[in-house]
Amino acid sequence: MIVNPKIRGFICTTAHPTGCAAHVQEQIHYVKQQKKICAPKRILIIGASTGYGLATRITAAFGANAKTIGVFLEKKATIKRTASAGWYNSVAFKKAAQEAGLYAKSINGDAFSNEIKQQVIDLIRQDWCSQVDLIIYSLASPRRYDPIAEVIYYSVLKPLDKTYFNKTVNILTGEVSQIEIKAATSKEIFHTEKVMGGEDWALWIEALKNAKVLAKGVSTVAYSYIGPEITYPIYRQGTIGKAKKHLELTAKSLTKSLALHCKGNAFISVNKGVVTQASAAIPVVPLYISLLYKVMKGKGTHEGCIEQIYRLFTKRLFTSEATVPVDEHGRIRMDDWELDKATQSEVKSLWENVSTDNLEQISDIKGYRKEFFKLFGFKINNVNYEADLNIL
Ligand code: NAD
Repeated sequence: MIVNPKIRGFICTTAHPTGCAAHVQEQIHYVKQQKKICAPKRILIIGASTGYGLATRITAAFGANAKTIGVFLEKKATIKRTASAGWYNSVAFKKAAQEAGLYAKSINGDAFSNEIKQQVIDLIRQDWCSQVDLIIYSLASPRRYDPIAEVIYYSVLKPLDKTYFNKTVNILTGEVSQIEIKAATSKEIFHTEKVMGGEDWALWIEALKNAKVLAKGVSTVAYSYIGPEITYPIYRQGTIGKAKKHLELTAKSLTKSLALHCKGNAFISVNKGVVTQASAAIPVVPLYISLLYKVMKGKGTHEGCIEQIYRLFTKRLFTSEATVPVDEHGRIRMDDWELDKATQSEVKSLWENVSTDNLEQISDIKGYRKEFFKLFGFKINNVNYEADLNIL
């Protein structure tokens, strides 16, 4: 089959296996060019197939020679349909890890379920002498089936109390338009917190703790986002931001229980805005990221997922310092360069001026598009897109 991109809204419904493998290789190459990392050796990544979770898995494996178990929810190919990008990424990661002699096992299934938690525990018992050193929680999901309450929760991206108006962009056509997003209902606010808040993270840690598979001094890290004032109503002060605040509070309670249980720790890492499948779905954010990339590339401070996570490992989590540097709320701040005052002031003035007419000149929409297609394995140099592929 010859595989072409098919875009529906903010998602591409096809993925290119060779292109996804090349994208994974590019990230592995970046990590291999950097200094080796002194980090724990048995790492569980929940949400390991794309975006920040995949970058974490690559950094752990190829930067620190760590064994990794990756959990994700991805679609296998059928005769007519390509697999999802995360599926191809994970196949490519596993192949590269095996070639490098690195342990890498994956579990494809619903991380919110009890069954997948149990499968992970069984694997840790079987392969890692019942010890995991680091658990990364990097899920981004539109829904969660809660096996205890037997309810499906759906997350929404809406403001909390009043209608929000701002600019947004159609990344394909480059049309900048006004968007109006009505405030969420109290049910939607509750649901979003159930999906993207800290409840499931806590259930994971509780299950691992009860199974006695947490190593002494274990750490767990969940990823969060704050972003600029421009996006506050839709992000930080919206339904997703409320869920992220719940995630951040969960870190505090997990730290208390892990400290008592095994001298462990729970962290939040506030990462920077990057192009991923999850961020592409948030209204307004792609336009902001296009402007942010323009400014950060100009200043030489630009990072994608892999650069962010390599810096998280080497400058925050695993340094020669006795403690991990955190802000006044106990959070690791990887968004320091994004929220730098001079950077934000330039982004803000570009934001005020950006329109359909000047988008190509004043933003990095070209870079955004390239990154977006790359998420699905398209428009990558040296990949033959004319080739007839076996997609299975
Ligand atoms: P992503 O869409 O690239 O990755 C999401 C991952 O979650 C994938 O591996 C997917 O398979 C997995 N997943 C989704 N539902 C699942 C389920 N039910 N069971 C198992 N796996 C499931 O997202 P991302 O942007 O890398 O986001 C990861 C985390 O980083 C999120 O918490 C997000 O809020 C945070 N973050 C993202 C950004 C950004 O700009 N993208 C910035 C800061 C923080």
